[in-house]
Amino acid sequence: AALDRRSEVDVQGGWKVGDPVPYAALAKTFALIEATTKRIEKTSLLTSLLLLVIQRSKKGDTDSLLRTVYLCINRLSPDYIGIELGIGESLLIKAIGESTGRSLAIVKSDLKKEGDLGLVAKNSKNNQKTLFKPRPLSVPFVFSHLKDIALSSGHSSQNKKVSIITKLLAACQGEEAKYIVRSLEGKLRIGLAERTVLVALAHATVLAEQEQTGKRWNKEKLAARLEEGSSILKSVYSELPNYDQVVPALLNVGISKLHDDCKLTPGVPLKPMLAKPTKAIGEVLDRFEGKRFTCEYKYDGERAQVHMLPDGTVGVFSRNSEDMSKKYPDLVEQLPHAVKEGTQSFVLDAEAVAIDRTTGKLMPFQELSKRKRKDVKVEDIQVRVCIFAFDLLFLNGEPLLKKNLVERRELLQKHFKPVDGEFQFARSSDNESTEDIQTFLDESVKDGCEGLMVKMLESEASYYEPSRRSVNWLKLKKDYLAGVGDSLDLVVVGGYYGKGKRTNVYGAFLLACYDSDSEEFQTICKIGTGFSEEMLASHYEALKPLELATARGDVKVGGAKPDVWFEPRMVWEVLTADLSLSPVYTAAMGLIEDRGVSLRFPRFLRVRDDKNADDATGSDQVAEMYERQVLAQGSAKKKKGDG
Ligand code: ATP
Repeated sequence: AALDRRSEVDVQGGWKVGDPVPYAALAKTFALIEATTKRIEKTSLLTSLLLLVIQRSKKGDTDSLLRTVYLCINRLSPDYIGIELGIGESLLIKAIGESTGRSLAIVKSDLKKEGDLGLVAKNSKNNQKTLFKPRPLSVPFVFSHLKDIALSSGHSSQNKKVSIITKLLAACQGEEAKYIVRSLEGKLRIGLAERTVLVALAHATVLAEQEQTGKRWNKEKLAARLEEGSSILKSVYSELPNYDQVVPALLNVGISKLHDDCKLTPGVPLKPMLAKPTKAIGEVLDRFEGKRFTCEYKYDGERAQVHMLPDGTVGVFSRNSEDMSKKYPDLVEQLPHAVKEGTQSFVLDAEAVAIDRTTGKLMPFQELSKRKRKDVKVEDIQVRVCIFAFDLLFLNGEPLLKKNLVERRELLQKHFKPVDGEFQFARSSDNESTEDIQTFLDESVKDGCEGLMVKMLESEASYYEPSRRSVNWLKLKKDYLAGVGDSLDLVVVGGYYGKGKRTNVYGAFLLACYDSDSEEFQTICKIGTGFSEEMLASHYEALKPLELATARGDVKVGGAKPDVWFEPRMVWEVLTADLSLSPVYTAAMGLIEDRGVSLRFPRFLRVRDDKNADDATGSDQVAEMYERQVLAQGSAKKKKGDG
């Protein structure tokens, strides 16, 4: 009963079976979720809402639940289809002004005070006197209008967007305007991580099944069912990250049979497996003690998940599940040359690397990032790209995630053949002594790689774990070994005007890591070194359009005081000498101490345009790095003392 909060999230008088889900119920749920920091409460509130949606949907209606789920994660389609919100501040200010009859100057000054456009919109609405009560908003209405906004393009699209937003805002009541505006900005900021949505969706499905069949499970049995349900849904979703397929299947076949209906499918990119950093070969040997493992070159390119459908269509997807087929038409054209007969459909995990046309030598990542992201024509391509395949996840109708790496590798080599300058298998060595690993690492660096990836070879530990940063994959980069420290991928949230020669550009920047639990960007350091004059000019050009009047509500500022704020979008890879505790910055605050963690002597390495702001280094990773450093310093001191 404590978990059942249906009466709290429901609208007054409820809504009838078959009626569209009232947006007011969703906004009410969001407000309750935002008001608590407890994950259990967030889960039960959302479970209750989704349960109501399931129970009040007509048989066969899967759209009501699907759209509610999409609005909860603030997306409109699967990632790879790329229908995105993220409307700029100025457009929203204009729409808020128009729909509430307030001047832009007043809306802007409110924003300076509140720091949250959602709140500004809500307050503007609530202070507005209206003669008629507008017709209540519904989930399908909001969803389809958000989609229209995201899809509108072309020269009059700005006006069109403002007019749809104005229409939506005009109909808002209570809390609704706040969440509509935040949705439009691209982030709800209610502390609702996608994994919580998955758990709530699983729980709602299990509870709906129980109530429908009139079963009465005791407490233990129910808890076990809920646990089993969420683990099934999480695992299915990691293989097939597509709510358009998973939600209808949940309602049609039920959660226990979900695995039969939803499997990894070529054409739907899965979130790739990621690796943990290691600082020394000794650490690798400690972690993999007694287990068989393999070392592979860590190529310095762009992650590429290559799919081939049974009809021969080839698709290339990025680390973020973005469709990159338009960036790499050459790869799409080349790939079939490497496919042996009898291979009808597959999903490959690989790295796309730039190579020199004449010498065949590997070139650094920067060469690839010079390419346009879309509409590249094969005849215009200067830099050649070669695929280095390191894993096979699906073959001829069958997912391979739960085969060990030895088997996956055998299948990879059996069904593909190397083609000079087009397709290679990642170079690997299965030797296990420190000397062998050191030699192989040196070779990899000499050949233009970043270092090695070390992977478990046998048993369940070597299964492919989609979307996990796993201890079964370790990365050993040459940079770590040189004692410079781990690199971090950080979001640029603020800028400081330059001095002297740099007055026309930003001379330094405020960076932040990302905390996925609280959905906050936490400040970590000010960076002003590692930039050439040209770089500063190009950063200025890229960042100027992202300037904001004030820090966005999801930036946990601490004591930092930059001259300008940016929309958190740009990701930079940064090196640091080491990490220290800081009274100013907020990164990983509370994870180690009440103070945050900061980078000492940060140095800019490169722009990571293959990462979204949410893919930046996490606060948990920052805390882990800090703790490892403290441990290492402790043992170094001890050694000194021993000596
Ligand atoms: P970074 O690229 O900065 O190391 P990341 O967060 O993008 O960080 P990691 O999991 O840390 O990803 O490192 C793995 C990345 O290395 C992969 O995403 C892939 O792009 C690249 N890579 C190159 N060679 C290999 C390989 N043989 N096996 C796996 N990944 C490889």
